[in-house]
Amino acid sequence: MIIRGVTAKKIFDSRKEHTILISIKTDVGNFSASAPNGKSKGKYEAKPYQKNLEGDIKALKKFSDYFSEEILEKFDDLRRVEDIVDRHVGANTLFALESAILKAIAKEQKKQIWQLINKNSKKSPRLIGNCIGGGKHSEAKKKKPDFQEFLLIPNTKSIEESLEKNKKAKEETKNLLKKIDEKFKERKNDEDAWMTSLNDKETLEVLKKLRISLGVDVAASSFYKRKKYQYENPIFKRTSEEQKSYVSNLIKNFNLLYIEDPFHEEDFESFAKLLKKFPNSLITGDDLTVTNYKRLKKAVEMKSINAIIVKPNQCGSLLEVKRVCELAKKSDIKIIFSHRSGETPETVLADLAFGFGADFFKCGITGKEREAKIKRLIEIEKSLKFSH
Ligand code: PEP
Ligand code: MG
Repeated sequence: MIIRGVTAKKIFDSRKEHTILISIKTDVGNFSASAPNGKSKGKYEAKPYQKNLEGDIKALKKFSDYFSEEILEKFDDLRRVEDIVDRHVGANTLFALESAILKAIAKEQKKQIWQLINKNSKKSPRLIGNCIGGGKHSEAKKKKPDFQEFLLIPNTKSIEESLEKNKKAKEETKNLLKKIDEKFKERKNDEDAWMTSLNDKETLEVLKKLRISLGVDVAASSFYKRKKYQYENPIFKRTSEEQKSYVSNLIKNFNLLYIEDPFHEEDFESFAKLLKKFPNSLITGDDLTVTNYKRLKKAVEMKSINAIIVKPNQCGSLLEVKRVCELAKKSDIKIIFSHRSGETPETVLADLAFGFGADFFKCGITGKEREAKIKRLIEIEKSLKFSH
């Protein structure tokens, strides 16, 4: 496959913020891909753009001709693309460019994108669906949960069934919230999750009634200030030690299967203490590890986590994503591919998750940008059933 030209433009994500859409002209057709935007970003994430979006669009134009000298046939050929644009564009631009290139290579090779990563992939990831939101993703001026996400993790045979189960449970949650939360107005947040005025514990009490495994994204960095976890609902400051006992009690009382970023992004030690106490729950790094090989290596060495969030645009390079997934697998760390809070209808995330053998797929339950990704996963799952 030969690239004949690269163009990029600004588009809006689901939060009406700008993001990048990249289109490539090749000898096998035209392909495009877009990148999402995070809001509760990790401090150690790569920058989305070298300087800004406009600057990256210009940089790509400048390099457009260089790509035509390369013949790209397989996943690892992305190395040659990175050699050209390295340090000239940011993570969002690199992710969208590499995704468009994978679409073109797949077309030329008459393969699905995931097959370029591992043609023997078979395992469907289990869905983790965002049902109720608080923290940075919910722009409520008044009360809201301090935790960012309250997640449903159904255990069914197929992704299609899991999606159905999550959708039903989300409807049921609406009816429960109507009864319990006087201020509930059926409003949804950035990830299309319900907004509530309940606090973290009250929210978990509601979800407990659903009889589905539960998880939370504490996103603790977003309320860690001056060496304390500063809760607002109710107002209360917790030290690291107090945070650990608070989270431990929630894990016990609500039988939490999944806990993401329970401590701030520098605190590898507290993660390790929690994991030692709860080896059967998924103690997950997101802001802690930011899809970065070196940070994952540190987390492995310190035994901080047994699960890692992979968001390809946290680093931009799909080769780095590959290294992260390989190290995670080798270290017995579960892999969770995840959407961002500002999404586009792009579905490449589903192919990447399937190709890299993700154990879980974290996404919203409703909303066209989120459903497009889950539908693509269902399509992959179905195509395998027919081919076996
Ligand atoms: C998250 O923290 O898991 C998340 C999806 O947030 P964002 O995309 O805003 O970084
Ligand atoms: Mg997170």
